Amino acid sequence: SGRLQGKAALVTAGAQGIGRATVERFIAEGAYVHAVDIRPDLLRGLENCTAHQVDLRDGAGIEKLAQAVGRIDVLFNCAGVVQAGTILDCPEEDWALAYTLNVTAMYRTIRAFLPAMLEAGRGSIVNMSSIASSVKGIPNRFAYGTTKAAVIGLTKSVAADFVTRGIRCNAICPGTVDTPSLRDRLSATGDYQRAYQEFSDRQPMGRLGSAEEIAALALYLASDESSFTTGAIHIVDGGWIN
Ligand code: NAD
Repeated sequence: SGRLQGKAALVTAGAQGIGRATVERFIAEGAYVHAVDIRPDLLRGLENCTAHQVDLRDGAGIEKLAQAVGRIDVLFNCAGVVQAGTILDCPEEDWALAYTLNVTAMYRTIRAFLPAMLEAGRGSIVNMSSIASSVKGIPNRFAYGTTKAAVIGLTKSVAADFVTRGIRCNAICPGTVDTPSLRDRLSATGDYQRAYQEFSDRQPMGRLGSAEEIAALALYLASDESSFTTGAIHIVDGGWIN
């Protein structure tokens, strides 16, 4: 039987990229998955999966979602927006959006889903951070790096508060991963091939990570195999910061 047999999991930003790879892996390991995205059409045809159309910037939408879904064993907060630029390139609207989607959305999902986890006395929360956070300062990732550092603080606080009540909360910090949004950012440079090569060349392994390689870590943290880890930063970066 699978590593998540009998468990219910919810994955935000589940339609594409790392979220999508995780949805598919969780299902393959026996979970029933609630996949949340603004593009639920992309999830059509998956078995043991309900696709929910929610804009994660919308607090009322998240509350409605929690009422519809009920108790879950695993909450994977994967949604996040990447903006380029320094502090001088970051108007307050961009700053506010980065906070809303990268930090406030997980504050809201945890507040919505944690009470039922506490009642059951178990639950694993996995939050998507990044190497660009308190782990490392990356040029031109100002709002992104700031909010992904906040994710680490949020993760550690939740872990500390509920460590005696069966709840674990961990953060994933990937390096550069080949996903649709990364490809969009490479295209936006005007020379996709060259940008792809540059991104790959700065990796010690000479290649980007795959969404499946991040999903494998999310699976470990979601499952009972990781029962002795909480409040921890889990780096998966092909040796980038080594
Ligand atoms: P992706 O762009 O491939 O997929 C993002 C998904 O989020 C899409 O399905 C999109 O429809 C959905 N989405 C966007 N805005 C939404 C909203 N407001 N409400 C609901 N859904 C929304 O993304 P990815 O590259 O796999 O990134 C996923 C997470 O991993 C993000 O938090 C990102 O910061 C983090 N991350 C990515 C990398 C990387 O190199 N790709 C590295 C480190 C961390």
